[in-house]
Amino acid sequence: MSANPLQHAQFVLAAHRINQLPADAGAEVAFAGRSNAGKSSALNALTGQRALARTSKTPGRTQQMVVFELDQGTRLVDLPGYGYAKVPESLRAHWRKEIDAYLQRRQSLRGVVLIADIRHELKEFDRQMLHFCSARGLPCLLLLTKADKLSRGQAAAAVERARGLCRREGWDVIVQAFSSSAGTGLDAARETVVAMLSA
Ligand code: GDP
Repeated sequence: MSANPLQHAQFVLAAHRINQLPADAGAEVAFAGRSNAGKSSALNALTGQRALARTSKTPGRTQQMVVFELDQGTRLVDLPGYGYAKVPESLRAHWRKEIDAYLQRRQSLRGVVLIADIRHELKEFDRQMLHFCSARGLPCLLLLTKADKLSRGQAAAAVERARGLCRREGWDVIVQAFSSSAGTGLDAARETVVAMLSA
């Protein structure tokens, strides 16, 4: 296998507000998703690092923006998992505001990877995220993960349904099936992230 350009991702900091993020220079790709969608597992799989997600899952950090630096001064940003049941409404409101501001204003943001469970229809949060990216003209990769839980045919149908929705809504999104555990779509997803970072 060729070298993985994401393999040197290293924890930099966890931020509670966007003004605590590293200077808005260079290039970064943000990872978003509802909690339990499989975002940490996807980050692990893409970077080939088992410890990376543990960093994001450290108690207290699941509700922060976690920044990882790659070797070329580029970054991956793990956005707080949305819809986490134990999170009080005030914190949810805080994150809605911070994520909105981040997506709208962050100049170094080159693209968003949205993680959603392939077995479920896209939820309100997912749709808002796709809408946001499209409105800002930000490249977006929708990874329908846990594809290993479905047959090939079912997974292909789920991808087509999501593509249909994006077409109807006018959202310019790359949609692909993914599985962190089986490695489905891993190389293609990695290539898209690397392309976003170098665009
Ligand atoms: P996060 O809250 O979005 O970071 O989700 P996690 O990555 O912690 O995953 C939530 C649960 O889904 C865990 O039990 C994972 O083991 C499981 N999971 C994540 N990705 C996959 C996958 O591709 N296939 C399967 N079968 N399970 C997965």
